[in-house]
Amino acid sequence: MTPVIRRVYLPFALMLAAAAGACRDSARHDDRSESARYAQSREIMGTFAEVTAFAPDRDTAQRAVEAAYDRLADVNRQMSDYSDDSEIGRLNRQPAGEKTVVSPETFLVLQRAMEIAEASGGAFDPTCRPLVQLWKHAGKENRLPEPEALADTMQHVGWRKVTLDPQDRSVAMTVQGVQIDLGGIAKGYALDLAAEALKQAGAQSGLVNVGGDVFALGSQPGDRPWRIGMKHPFQPGLFRTLAVRDRAVATSGVQQRFNVIDGKRYSHIVDPRTGRPAEQAPAVTVVAPDGLTADAWATVFSVLTVEEGQAMIESLPEIEAMWIWGSADAVQTAESSGFAQYVTAE
Ligand code: AMP
Ligand code: MG
Repeated sequence: MTPVIRRVYLPFALMLAAAAGACRDSARHDDRSESARYAQSREIMGTFAEVTAFAPDRDTAQRAVEAAYDRLADVNRQMSDYSDDSEIGRLNRQPAGEKTVVSPETFLVLQRAMEIAEASGGAFDPTCRPLVQLWKHAGKENRLPEPEALADTMQHVGWRKVTLDPQDRSVAMTVQGVQIDLGGIAKGYALDLAAEALKQAGAQSGLVNVGGDVFALGSQPGDRPWRIGMKHPFQPGLFRTLAVRDRAVATSGVQQRFNVIDGKRYSHIVDPRTGRPAEQAPAVTVVAPDGLTADAWATVFSVLTVEEGQAMIESLPEIEAMWIWGSADAVQTAESSGFAQYVTAE
């Protein structure tokens, strides 16, 4: 399976989903005492996933989990830029000016990606692929890109160089060599579709965790919120525990995955405005009503400075974030005005 998201290197992921308590425990508190829990882990989308469902019976819970995994696989098939056969793979090979019709799912993610590119002043940019590849190649060669190569690559980057036509769901590049990378947003969208699949298949609630990004559907039995651990960025253990219902939680960080050149780490997240790897907050956790939003904005806040991000987030309804930076000895944090509502004492 070719990944939408690159394999996660050190640390594996900044998030850890704390799964539901034992069924016996839930039965005691719950008037839905028939609730059965089923959970399964798999390797998918280039990372590890765990899907948990509560349903009236075990068979339903298991079917719901299978349905959720089917949706994750669908999104990977459609949107991975690693696969030449995916819709994005095909788009990335099409000559400028040519229209390609894509699935409603891919079209929707592209539309949302363009909106977030606009809203973030280009900090998020789905056309970042040539830059991501340039820096990846530089890592392999252990040599910084030549300024000319960087300038040339920048010619092929910019979300305004892609035209989306909602009439026929087609996509066209206006400049030759523009390439799309949905690695900062597709995983979040996959969470949304997987959670919807859980519900459709009869689950009362559930948790979808893909590489540490999570969608918490409903509550655990007994009307208890899902508890999501935020891993400490500088040492083992948790930094905070969040309690959420019907919310997505996504974490990005410039140190999460990186290329090493001359012994220095360069983030896998690029700043499309400069063409250089992002150098901002080592960990940003975003809580939002849906996975696509949480995923994409976590990437945005990894590109922007903490101050820029803080200024921007207060005008974004229902999006909350926490930034963590500094060092193990001197941890620094900032959070949006509504983030505290999700933080629990334990
Ligand atoms: P995330 O882990 O969600 O922050 O996504 C990181 C991935 O998003 C990278 O591996 C790239 O595939 C892609 N990416 C890197 N920089 C950007 C950017 N500035 N805007 C959008 N996507 C990006
Ligand atoms: Mg993201």
